[in-house]
Amino acid sequence: MALIVQKYGGSSVADAESIKRVAKRIVDTRRAGHDVVVAVSAMGDTTDELLDLANEVAPIPAPRELDMLLSSGERISMALLAMAIHSMGFEARSFTGSQAGMITDSQHGAARIVDVTPVRLREALDEGAIVIVAGFQGFNRDTRDITTLGRGGSDTTAVALAAALDADVCEIYSDVDGIFTADPRVIPKAQKLDHIGSEEMLELAANGAKVLYIRAVEYARRHGVLIHARSTFSSSEGTYVLGEGMKNPRGAEGAAAMEEPIVAGVATDFGQAKITVAGVPDVPGKAAEIFKIVAKSGANVDMIVQNVSATGRTDISFTVPKADSAAALKALAGEQTEVGFQNLVHDDQIGKLSVVGAGMRTHSGVSAVLFEALSAGGINIEMISTSEIRISVVLRDTDLAEAARTVHTAYGLDGDAEATVHAGTGR
Ligand code: ASP
Ligand code: MG
Repeated sequence: MALIVQKYGGSSVADAESIKRVAKRIVDTRRAGHDVVVAVSAMGDTTDELLDLANEVAPIPAPRELDMLLSSGERISMALLAMAIHSMGFEARSFTGSQAGMITDSQHGAARIVDVTPVRLREALDEGAIVIVAGFQGFNRDTRDITTLGRGGSDTTAVALAAALDADVCEIYSDVDGIFTADPRVIPKAQKLDHIGSEEMLELAANGAKVLYIRAVEYARRHGVLIHARSTFSSSEGTYVLGEGMKNPRGAEGAAAMEEPIVAGVATDFGQAKITVAGVPDVPGKAAEIFKIVAKSGANVDMIVQNVSATGRTDISFTVPKADSAAALKALAGEQTEVGFQNLVHDDQIGKLSVVGAGMRTHSGVSAVLFEALSAGGINIEMISTSEIRISVVLRDTDLAEAARTVHTAYGLDGDAEATVHAGTGR
């Protein structure tokens, strides 16, 4: 008998039918003799709808009240799921984040988990019940208020529960079959991976892969939680995300017996914009000034490139999420005279392509394959950045899909068959 934590995303519990299907899956796991703890997201697009509603009644909704509102989405799905399980003759009990002992800091809308005290969950499990926990929410001890963990936070809830309860595995269910070598919506020949290292998964998630949330992967890596990403819509196994020293539960039957591929996957990100600060005086301290201003605007900087200066002035370009670019531009424009740059250029027609693989550490020529593939495709590169296990390039957004397909082929990642894509959002 194992203790299994399962997380179901919004698309898996979008309506009554789906809730019943999920209930059946949970009951099947219970029937197999396992203890089951479930973290559930709000039904379908509930969170977005609640956000829209909030914005209709107030231009800037109070963060405390927004968390009260948004956390209600998960309360709906958890109670319905428990009811559906009851009607199948099994005992189930739902708990809000605070009842489940999800203790967070006080930052509304982006709270961090500081402690998990799942006393009530343990009791319920000991009494033989299936436990259902509202994802994405917690409680702060000082303010005594409800918090939410940020969009997609239910993945983190599930992983945190798995860590606190010392679960055998944390299964994250969504409408895709697992983790692919690329987004199958962009690259139909993408293949499902048997397993992936958590470090590689983090890089993919940070660079546009949406199948798992980065904070959940980080938490799992830190606390040694085994993640199994799989589909609600099929019974086939998905992909294991293995932390350091973790064994593949499928053993040698998985790809473990083969040599690991150098490149694990290709990620695409259409969500970035590029800002160029042109004509910056080439003297010490200017980059510090610029990025202090950008940081204060709340924008999250990704890539940075500075040109060599011939004339005593230089251009500094950087990328930020599209949603942050207006704030960054405004903040910079407000300090143009102080910083002494000449002008600002904004470009939101870019796309970012990243190639990720732990094998890059020990193999040479990995980047040459990327550049050759792009050159053969006639695709122009605008920015380049690397980490130990990643190479990223910024391209025109209209080139991104084609570039990703070309590069996927060049690294030998193409599968024989087209990947099945279930309808849905990937969550
Ligand atoms: N319902 C929340 C959201 O849509 C949390 C989640 O789905 O994980 O962001
Ligand atoms: Mg959701």
